[in-house]
Amino acid sequence: MILLSGPNISGNEWKYVKDCLDTGWISSVGSYVTKFENMLAEFSGSKYGVATSNGTAALHISLILLDIKQGDRVIVPNLTFIASVNSIKYTGADPVFIDVDPNTWQMDLNLLESFLEENTQIEEKGARLKLNGALIKAIMPVHVLGNMCNMDKLLSIANKFNLKVVEDSTEALGSYYNGKHAGSFGELGCFSFNGNKIITCGGGGAIVTDNEGLAKKAKHLTTQAKADSFEYFHDEIGHNYRLVNTSAAIGVAQMEQLERFIRLKHEIKNFYQEQLSGVGDIEFQSIEKNTNPNWWLFTIKTERQKDLLKILNENEMQSRPFWIPMNQLPMFKNDLYVTENDLSNSIYQRCLSIPCSTDITIEQLTSISETIKKVYVQNF
Ligand SMILES: *Cc1c(COP(=O)(O)O)cnc(C)c1O
Repeated sequence: MILLSGPNISGNEWKYVKDCLDTGWISSVGSYVTKFENMLAEFSGSKYGVATSNGTAALHISLILLDIKQGDRVIVPNLTFIASVNSIKYTGADPVFIDVDPNTWQMDLNLLESFLEENTQIEEKGARLKLNGALIKAIMPVHVLGNMCNMDKLLSIANKFNLKVVEDSTEALGSYYNGKHAGSFGELGCFSFNGNKIITCGGGGAIVTDNEGLAKKAKHLTTQAKADSFEYFHDEIGHNYRLVNTSAAIGVAQMEQLERFIRLKHEIKNFYQEQLSGVGDIEFQSIEKNTNPNWWLFTIKTERQKDLLKILNENEMQSRPFWIPMNQLPMFKNDLYVTENDLSNSIYQRCLSIPCSTDITIEQLTSISETIKKVYVQNF
């Protein structure tokens, strides 16, 4: 089976994990955790990094840090992985889903801006919905597939409506807008190191920020809010969201290879674009001016999505559809969805992600491309 986006364990992973096992530092304290946090902060251009047990935990804690509470609203694109929205729901807040741009597949900022202008009242701590009086306090842009929206515009909207920004940059380690790394635009940025991401810890996540207070508080809240180094005095309800040292050890080894992984993802994307451009009705994800994505998960758009998914998976070339849009899931059907033409749905019905692991071979890429081309030759 050619994996969609599998882990590439080809550096110092064994050595560093063995070091943890040999020394007994396998749990939530240890030098690899700190090292991993520092490497992430440095790479992503933020002052502080706080490692977490996964990306969802990073998002949850970030929202708590921004004082998102029961009854509040958080803006999020309608096309995302469910973890973005779950993290909002964990705080008791509700999402406001914004439809996406048909070309970049990121949140549609024009739609967002006109919605806020027509339907909210600006207040000190956010934008109040005229509809029901709920306060929108934050925007969570999701850098879908490692691509990014126009971050200048997003920040100016946030600024105008007094909204905090927490970036779901879980897919965007190695992505840049105007030379600035994803996750460094908002108050807080979140990463994930799940097995399919550009680097992995097995499971893991991180929060990055330039704000020392928020970084300290993030560490506090992810370690059960223990406020005394000796006594079990906890000063608020915390979480057990710390990354363990063995996972961080894998993360450090993966970080050492990140530049190479990014280069490989770019090469894979270039290969596919060369092979598949002009084939049938295949379209690629477009990028905004000044955006340099990490090309984490190569995805194409075509009317033949279902045929391709079937044939590729039958040939052991692991391919996946896009996420079902959030407004279509049963738990979120009563949440507000801002849209004109339900483009999320049409993207969902046409997109598929195809194998792009960093250890994929040219032979495999070639046979995947040939398999795709055949579908169009046979049927047009
Ligand atoms: C992977 C991912 C997450 C969550 O990460 P986990 O580490 O799996 O909890 C959140 N949002 C998006 C968009 C993701 O792709």
